[in-house]
Amino acid sequence: MSNSKHTANLPVLLPWINGAYTETDGTRSGDVFNPALGSVIRRVRFGSAADVDKAVNAARAAFPGWRDTTPMRRARVLMRIRELMEANRRELVNLIIEEHGKAMLDADGSVQRGIEMIEFASGVPHLMKGEFSEDVGRGIDCHSIMQPIGVCAGIVPFNFPVMVPLWIIPVAIACGNAFVLKPSEKVPSAALRMAELFKEAGLPDGVFNVVPGDKEAVDALLTHPEVNAVSSVGSSPVAKHIYETASSHGKRVQALGGAKNHAIVMPDCDLAFTVDSLISAGYGSTGERCMAISTVVAVGGIADVLVDRMRKQAATVKVGQGGQPGIDMGPLITAAHRDKVAGYIDLGVKEGAKLVVDGRSLKVAGFENGFFLGPTLFDRVTTDMTIYKDEIFGPVLIVLRVESLDEAIAMVNRNPYGNGVAIFTSSGAAARQFERDIDVAMVGVNVPIPVPMAFFSFGGWKKSFFGDRHVYGMEGVQFYTRSKVVTSRWPQADEKHPTTLAMPTM
Ligand code: NAD
Repeated sequence: MSNSKHTANLPVLLPWINGAYTETDGTRSGDVFNPALGSVIRRVRFGSAADVDKAVNAARAAFPGWRDTTPMRRARVLMRIRELMEANRRELVNLIIEEHGKAMLDADGSVQRGIEMIEFASGVPHLMKGEFSEDVGRGIDCHSIMQPIGVCAGIVPFNFPVMVPLWIIPVAIACGNAFVLKPSEKVPSAALRMAELFKEAGLPDGVFNVVPGDKEAVDALLTHPEVNAVSSVGSSPVAKHIYETASSHGKRVQALGGAKNHAIVMPDCDLAFTVDSLISAGYGSTGERCMAISTVVAVGGIADVLVDRMRKQAATVKVGQGGQPGIDMGPLITAAHRDKVAGYIDLGVKEGAKLVVDGRSLKVAGFENGFFLGPTLFDRVTTDMTIYKDEIFGPVLIVLRVESLDEAIAMVNRNPYGNGVAIFTSSGAAARQFERDIDVAMVGVNVPIPVPMAFFSFGGWKKSFFGDRHVYGMEGVQFYTRSKVVTSRWPQADEKHPTTLAMPTM
């Protein structure tokens, strides 16, 4: 909540409902910061339960017409959305830098990954093809149909204002559903701008709605009787709450949670390549990435040289305002989050880990009020320490030391999270054992951030995911459709009708 004295004249963002910005019934609003400047740049109205109801009703009303639009025509709208996303890419990138703080290359790369989701979903006439079996019995055929499920809701986090919403929206609407998005209250502008572009591309009013807000809007979506499915991305406690609440209200749910991603470094790895990978995977996007490497597991005798190289390379990371040339790492999202991450660094020291690089005192010239923290590196961390157990979600890399690959795999498998993991090695046998035995959903072999491309599916295991179908790719298509199986018989005019009540032999 803001100090109205300082923010009275700032623009206020409203929900996008039925193809237009709409006044809210509620009066609550929040501040949107530029985290590099540390100042409020606009305000956003928080949707109330009544606003959510309005958006869901608009989606419900738009659903039959959109469902009955042929998949080819729906695909053409997606193709136009893709063109408009490309044409307005710079503006979207700037909004991400402004509200989230990402460095330019990270912001642009994330928009690119989002666009790839639209490209995948444009193949919907093929993706929604059912199956057909002729002669499952004498004169009997059987086919399956994939149909949309109705009104779908999406609840998304702050860390990828364009890409994460696009993990879910393109597939959902391509399959013929209508959608209500609840973006993060910290970065609402990009989602609202995308809603304008979707309309310009020809998406009918009401098919896509955006209601910014907080828990009140989320809970209204989770319990609304007209919402059929919920996709969410965020921290594990919120994912669990969303999964339990929405599924107990009869909805299909996929809820992606937090992470603690390990990189196992074998003594036979290519050291220079590995260090480069760890530094960019640990500190890229300021560590605010669910697939960030936060935990390095050094196997055998490589630890000393590895930590020394990482220390030197961490010192070369350029921290600053994301739009400036050559910047590798921007600020954290809020002052509170920066202080929370700094608190973990204090705690790591207190718990006895060796602080090798300390980012706490970093100041960025010209941006003294920004929410910055420098790259931080801990060595000799153990699994009982809080900095190992908790998801820190900031530019803090920790190194643990083990004797063998078996020990490293066992450590990863004991960790409650199961989002991403990587191994660095030149041994095919080690990579194969790792790939087979590791209890984590997204696995990299000499690839630090193994985010699947749009035509595979994304999601974790264990505490990193609640539900059964992951987002995008074919699992996304299955999540946003339900299948029907039709068994049919068309007797010839002269064919005798069956004379018994018994089932036909199949
Ligand atoms: P968050 O859990 O605080 O918020 C996520 C969404 O839920 C937001 O829209 C927020 O408004 C809403 N929300 C917050 N508290 C809520 C509550 N009590 N009840 C109902 N809704 C609530 O997450 P965040 O801080 O925005 O993002 C960071 C987290 O997201 C990290 O834990 C990160 O690992 C995770 N994340 C996971 C993935 C993944 O793919 N698994 C991807 C991106 C981010």
